[in-house]
Amino acid sequence: MTERLYYEDAYLWRFDGNVTACRTGKRPGQWEVSLDRSAFYPTSGGQPHDTGTLKWKGGSARVLDVEADETGEVWHTVDRAPAAGIPVRGEIDGVRRTDHMEQHGGEHMLAGALWEKLGGTTIGLHLGAEESSIDADLPEGRTHLTEEEIRLLEDTVNERIRLNAPIRCWFPEPEELRKLPLRKPPTVKEHVRIVAMGDFEMVACGGTHPDATGRIGLVKILSAAPARGKVRITFVCGGRAVRLFQAVMRSAGKAGAALSCPVDELSRAAAELKYRLAEVQKKANRYETQDLLSRFLEGENREDLPGTALAALCLPEHEAKAVTEAAAAYIREPGKALLLCCGERLTFARSADVAIDMNELIRRVARGGGRPEMAAGAGIPECIAAARKILITERNRGS
Ligand SMILES: [Zn+2]
Repeated sequence: MTERLYYEDAYLWRFDGNVTACRTGKRPGQWEVSLDRSAFYPTSGGQPHDTGTLKWKGGSARVLDVEADETGEVWHTVDRAPAAGIPVRGEIDGVRRTDHMEQHGGEHMLAGALWEKLGGTTIGLHLGAEESSIDADLPEGRTHLTEEEIRLLEDTVNERIRLNAPIRCWFPEPEELRKLPLRKPPTVKEHVRIVAMGDFEMVACGGTHPDATGRIGLVKILSAAPARGKVRITFVCGGRAVRLFQAVMRSAGKAGAALSCPVDELSRAAAELKYRLAEVQKKANRYETQDLLSRFLEGENREDLPGTALAALCLPEHEAKAVTEAAAAYIREPGKALLLCCGERLTFARSADVAIDMNELIRRVARGGGRPEMAAGAGIPECIAAARKILITERNRGS
């Protein structure tokens, strides 16, 4: 069983050990090395493994993955094989580990506050490359958090971070363990390791933690949404939270400059802009409708069909809503018929007193349909000429 050096010192980036075994890895060009002692953290409890290097006399290898087997042996996946039995020096990527400790430490603080303030119990941690999440059971099966509850959790956690309380990890004797006020019962029976973060949080955990709450830096909740009957809280901590804040402020600053307002008035400015845009759109639609209507009137012909003003027109593309409104306004007057092609959109319409079935007519010249008094479809300008010809021919035949 590998002695896990990170239990004693989570900031041990460099250590010496001996290769106890070396076997072929899961992929070509990779090997798995076990050591008698290691500070490399193997993937477990939602916290990803460490990376780094193993060095020995005359060689070195990159550590790509770290896993522990059921016997407690820690296996380091490497890209070069050291000989079994030789001494090696391990060097851990401290930037990656520090990031993981910040997220993991923040998760404990969040889970502790959730339990204390809202009676929620957390189930597992997912530490992702960008953000982390915990799923929580809330009283009465609630699957969401209010804005105030999110604020309460953030404020509680960040105040406790600023207190810079010590974080302590140890293996208590069974008698001591029984008396400890743990947030939830341990999932393992033997070698139970406890983490205590000040007096805010105490739970069994085999992970790596900062040595004081201050080193978590900052915790920011990004969302709280229902997930499989629980609430999933997504968050960032430490350096990630700072980088996110920088990115958000950069983006908000640019938006503020574009809208000529301070960052804290962005939502008001955006709502105002949206309202103004809708007003302008309404006006533009009204103008477009009136413009179309006057074109129909200018383009109408009274000789084609006796007693009916026929507007058979091909116009450039217009807003569909404006076309429909203009057509409806046009046929409100008696004795009107409209055959219109706007771009690739056909609109056929007639007044209530005109005996033409526009639904049938449009189907004879193009793809489309509707009611006898108004129909729409897709077509080309030639469809208008064809429809006009049908109307004139049939009217002549009928008269
Ligand atoms: Zn932990």
